[in-house]
Amino acid sequence: MTAQQSIVVIGAGLAGAKTVGSLRARGHTGPLTLIGRESHLPYERPPLSKEYLSGEGSFEDALVHPEQWYLDRQIDLRLGTSATAIDTAARTITLEDGSTLPYDSLVLATGSSPRRSELPGADAAGVLYLRSREDADAIRPLAATGTRIVVIGGGWIGLEVAAVTRAGGAEVTVLERGHLPLARILGDKIAQVYADLHLDHGVQLLTDTEAAEILVQDGRATGVRLVDGRTLEADAVVVGIGAVPHLELAEAAGLTLEQGGVAVDASLRSSDPDVYAVGDIAAHQHPLLGRRVRVEHWATALNQPKAVARTILGTITEYTELPYFYTDQYDLGMEYLGSAPQDQVADVVVRGDLDSREFIAFWRDRDEALLAVMAVNIWDVIDQVKPVLTEGRPVDAARLSDPAVALSDL
Ligand code: NAP
Repeated sequence: MTAQQSIVVIGAGLAGAKTVGSLRARGHTGPLTLIGRESHLPYERPPLSKEYLSGEGSFEDALVHPEQWYLDRQIDLRLGTSATAIDTAARTITLEDGSTLPYDSLVLATGSSPRRSELPGADAAGVLYLRSREDADAIRPLAATGTRIVVIGGGWIGLEVAAVTRAGGAEVTVLERGHLPLARILGDKIAQVYADLHLDHGVQLLTDTEAAEILVQDGRATGVRLVDGRTLEADAVVVGIGAVPHLELAEAAGLTLEQGGVAVDASLRSSDPDVYAVGDIAAHQHPLLGRRVRVEHWATALNQPKAVARTILGTITEYTELPYFYTDQYDLGMEYLGSAPQDQVADVVVRGDLDSREFIAFWRDRDEALLAVMAVNIWDVIDQVKPVLTEGRPVDAARLSDPAVALSDL
């Protein structure tokens, strides 16, 4: 494809904004349109459950680029509007006002929405989710002394919201239906570190239980009744029970879907050769992991666009970055690199001290090869482990746990 082709990107989150940026940076000079449902300039979402939620950061800090940046690059930014259909044969998309836009290449970066609670009472005022700036604005005032909050779901949203609101003085209860929050992702040993962290900060953590009903008075949530009959009073209920990728357009266009996302090859191309997918919705055939992965994390939205832009502009480029994510909760910061589905994990080796929350954890498979690494309160070290993560050879547990062995020598 030429540098003058017409390219449309649907979805103006981080992945969409980075895609148009990478295309221009790599010399694309043709028409370039970025379509976004939200009316804000594209912004990054991690601050919404961290610095922005706590008031330490402004919304402007979270913007991917200021408005002038898009103007300077002649990016046709269409905010507050949705694409309603894709015609892959005619290579056009339809917008909600009925107009159509032609494309030579189309990138889907439609992201996801919070999974909605189906509990009785879930429609009441004061039942909150966190995905957008407006959502964060609604939760922000709850981070105050005396506010009672019940958080449903002990995943990343649940725990980060719990940390910020608790640090602001709120009385916070987290409901986790499993036996430990994050156990499905981190396994029991490391998940326990997060449970202890929240307990030490005075969060009430109720595990092995679920909400049966959100209690409502005069249209407002007043608490939660649990399946065992207990009730919890609350001024607000925050629901963080996962995300649902926006696949409606892709599905209606007949693109192949797999693993809850748009099936894309190693270079992020979908079953239609002119259509690509990046970010939350991309079920990507990962060339190093040797399997399809769909990663709902910031770093994927940040990094996949570089590869997709190169491919669209004629240099077929596989996306080879390993999944990466991070979290900040109270005084605990963590970075994670790799992918360790619990059914592949044989053991987790720790270097450092779990109790003082300063350690590196290594997940290994049955062949003692590394699947993932996580550094807690130790910064900028995980990249040193990248070569071992990608080589797939066995690594001795004694060497992993020994601080005298440099990570770069593993
Ligand atoms: P999540 O991390 O997938 O966690 C969802 C949690 O809710 C899990 O503990 C899950 O339990 C539980 N759950 C699911 N359905 C439930 C139900 N019906 N009733 C009670 N609990 C239920 O999702 P999230 O925390 O909502 O976050 C949304 C998205 O934002 C995710 O894609 C996440 O990766 C992303 N995010 C990432 C970060 C970060 O990287 N630091 C921060 C915030 C958000 P089970 O494990 O038992 O299913």
